[in-house]
Amino acid sequence: MKNINLFTTLLGLFFLVTSCETDTLTIPQDRLHSRHASARQAASPAAALKARLAQLQASLPASYGGKLKPIPALSGKVDPQYRELVTRALGAIEPTPCETNTRINLWLDEQLTDWDREVISLVYETAMLDLPTYYTLVFENSSANQTFGVKGEYTQKLTKTFKDLKRFWNIESSDIALVAMHGSMLRDRTKLIKTYMVVYGLPSSLAAAYADIVIDALTYLPQYRNGDHPIFTFNAFAQSSFNLPGVGLIPDKIVMGDGIMAAYTAIGYGDVAVPAILAHEFGHHIQFQLDLFGDESSPEATRRTELMADAYSAYYLSHARGASMQWKRVQQFLQVFYNIGDCGFTSDGHHGTPTQRMAAAEWGYNVANNAQKQGHILTAQQFTALFEAQLPSLVTQ
Ligand SMILES: [Zn+2]
Repeated sequence: MKNINLFTTLLGLFFLVTSCETDTLTIPQDRLHSRHASARQAASPAAALKARLAQLQASLPASYGGKLKPIPALSGKVDPQYRELVTRALGAIEPTPCETNTRINLWLDEQLTDWDREVISLVYETAMLDLPTYYTLVFENSSANQTFGVKGEYTQKLTKTFKDLKRFWNIESSDIALVAMHGSMLRDRTKLIKTYMVVYGLPSSLAAAYADIVIDALTYLPQYRNGDHPIFTFNAFAQSSFNLPGVGLIPDKIVMGDGIMAAYTAIGYGDVAVPAILAHEFGHHIQFQLDLFGDESSPEATRRTELMADAYSAYYLSHARGASMQWKRVQQFLQVFYNIGDCGFTSDGHHGTPTQRMAAAEWGYNVANNAQKQGHILTAQQFTALFEAQLPSLVTQ
């Protein structure tokens, strides 16, 4: 408690000083300057929060090695693709030669221009970057009452596309939950505590102390945009149902993050991005249901299932009885979407090169075009068999 009091005092001083800035007309300039000087000597809010955090890290059980880690039952449950994009943007990963300055990279960089080293390190040390993802993975378990987008701006589009995908594909999809990932959970103390306890295995008192740091961070550091910064929800993924000890059955679900949709909307692809990302994730549910994921985890295995999901998505998006979108428009988006710098050819999370992904999508479009002439929708089984036969030639591209 002593530390918290010290922190509050420092913050009080900081805000007393900064609030003076708006009041320069009534404060003599020399007094203002001396106050500014004392502010510089005082710890910044980020530094004060880090000091509090250091205390908490010291009280983590020895097995944590001073760092928050998800419990083993949950690690590996989240697709790393978008996470790599986020960590690159935050400068945590060295740029690779094949990484291009794509519009999405540049947009993310722009959103982070006011993030300094301390602001970045706080999100890692509190796990703020992962909290919305894990909260949604574990606790959002029903499609009911979901709103998508910071202001609900994607709710209608997503709900409609999801319903349409369920009609289009012949798999059993009534038990898939479509759920939203919002940064607003970062300002909800109860949700934070639950997540720290269940996902990171913290005892309740420590979970509450971490939650308070996150809430103070949002309060005192405007860079986090009160939790609505897109970096916190720059994610979308599919998860098959699993049992989480202590929680129960987590249903089949698709998680759609506000941040990733906002990003593609901001660079001009909102119309295609939202259905395309959802259709790709829905494709993973086809694979769960048809048992198409092998036991093997390797870059080739991941590439196969990812290219397949790209093909399912393209087939649905362009099919006259699916989303019936103009292929040229879909292509424009996919050029941007696939070129997100997934160059981890040797990583188990490798999704295929941009060229391979586009080839898989083009192939899916061509199948749709042919199917249209025959006026029917292939079953998931038929489409998959065609894809498997095509895969060797897709990956030589
Ligand atoms: Zn995928």
